[in-house]
Amino acid sequence: MSVDTAAESTPPMSAAQTICKRSPVSGEVIGEFPISDEAAVAAAVARARAAFPAWSALSLEARMERLDRLRHVLVERGEEFAARLSEDTGKPRIESLSTELLLVPTLLDYHRKVAAKVLGRRKVWTPIYLAPKASYVEHFPRGVIGVISPWNFPFQLAIAPILQALTAGNTCVLKPSEVTPIAGELIREVFAAIDLPAGVVEVVQGDGGTGAALCRADVDMIFFTGSVATGRKVMAACAARPIPCELELGGKDAMIICEDAPLERAVRGAAWGGFTNAGQACISVERLFVVDAIYDRFVALFEREVGALRVGGPDEDADVGPMIFKGQLATVERHLREAVADGAKILVGGERVERAGQFFAPTVIVDVRPEMSIYREETFGPVVPIIRVKDEEEAIRLANSHEYGLNASVWTRDLDRGVAIASRLECGQVSVNDVLSSAGHPGLPFGGVKSSGIGRYHGEEGLRAFTHVRAILVDRALTKAEPYWYPYGGKYRGAVELVMGLMRKKPLKIVRGFVKMARIKREPGEG
Ligand code: NAD
Repeated sequence: MSVDTAAESTPPMSAAQTICKRSPVSGEVIGEFPISDEAAVAAAVARARAAFPAWSALSLEARMERLDRLRHVLVERGEEFAARLSEDTGKPRIESLSTELLLVPTLLDYHRKVAAKVLGRRKVWTPIYLAPKASYVEHFPRGVIGVISPWNFPFQLAIAPILQALTAGNTCVLKPSEVTPIAGELIREVFAAIDLPAGVVEVVQGDGGTGAALCRADVDMIFFTGSVATGRKVMAACAARPIPCELELGGKDAMIICEDAPLERAVRGAAWGGFTNAGQACISVERLFVVDAIYDRFVALFEREVGALRVGGPDEDADVGPMIFKGQLATVERHLREAVADGAKILVGGERVERAGQFFAPTVIVDVRPEMSIYREETFGPVVPIIRVKDEEEAIRLANSHEYGLNASVWTRDLDRGVAIASRLECGQVSVNDVLSSAGHPGLPFGGVKSSGIGRYHGEEGLRAFTHVRAILVDRALTKAEPYWYPYGGKYRGAVELVMGLMRKKPLKIVRGFVKMARIKREPGEG
């Protein structure tokens, strides 16, 4: 039995032995991939665990030097990889290059710049009552990280957390999405090509059953990217161990068009933000708020822009590719059907494209209201719902009163006002006059609030997410004993002076209290 990647939903993995990979462009079978069962997952984790001591013992510099070899592999074989990722997903090759492969060298560059500082030991403040001790904080790797990734950016969303985890000294076991197994094999190949020690990166293929097995295996942390529903299951599995998990979940991102927006840029930004990757991005524009004063002009221009987009496969030099997961088409169609029944109006698109494969026409829908499923739920397809708002205040209120809080954007020529609005939005990332690009910035932490997730990757927070923190306190005075150690007898008044001095911020009292406590001697014969 096999998991069919063009199935509307995938069966429980326990019964399946292979993934039958179909092209989202033609519907034809283009590969067969063996599924890792529970024993195979446990064996992969055991190999990663065996590799951990030597990998983590390498200096940071040595680890970064080894990983930097990826750059050479991508220079040599980048176009081939882009073509294979486009075969897996159907996305335009320019998107495979820029949104899948490009993050690798930029993340490597970023780590070179900051990792030593971010992960290295640093001295921190010591309170006066512990003087003259020295205090430090340092980070050390967690061990084996299980990485579970989705199908929409199957390469980037797997390799970025892996690179951060490896740089921090961990080893990794990846479980890619069953919908995009070719990307999983590519990850295996790129790491094999740089000759990492055996077990540093392991890949196990399979569906939810394999993912669940990875959560049960002997891993030290799960880094999960996917839907809220699966995220809950992953978190529950991690809680049973207990081990930490980071959850990168869904979104329903707001784009706010102010009256003074740079109009052409905003129109073209909305088109790219809504339809790149055929709208299958967790940070796609899924709620486009346009203020009344500019609404008619904006919508007319946007309708024309979207109507001109070309739909097709990677060989057709198109703008918008197919839906990667066939099951998602049903969600897109249900949202549109329900919205139209409830009074919304489709201006462009609205139906599957008549040809082989999983293509859906780029769609613009207006008169969308907050009670509609297309507004409440993640659509994750080539659909941009537009909501007319009285002013920015209404847009901010609506943007924030939603279950999700991943990313957002604000469009205005007044940059101060743009940043002020951005600071009021409840989400993990916001752009002013830009869209999606912040996710490709390795120095900006990425993650969500509310149902959009827990934790961050990219940036300093991302590197540290894959580490434990160790606090170190060093006594340098080497006196016989601390004044507050045993015996307590006779020390109470001094302690009062010390504690009250601390509370009232009176350094002299603190010192006097200390001295009084220190003067109390042990009885003769106490050693
Ligand atoms: P999904 O939740 O269906 O699957 C994600 C991964 O989890 C897959 O590898 C799947 O096999 C695995 N899985 C399924 N059941 C599991 C279980 N019980 N235990 C462990 N693993 C299990 O998500 P998807 O459909 O692949 O991806 C789309 C979703 O991902 C969307 O909601 C999207 O917004 C979200 N996403 C979030 C981000 C982000 O960074 N926040 C990025 C991309 C996608």
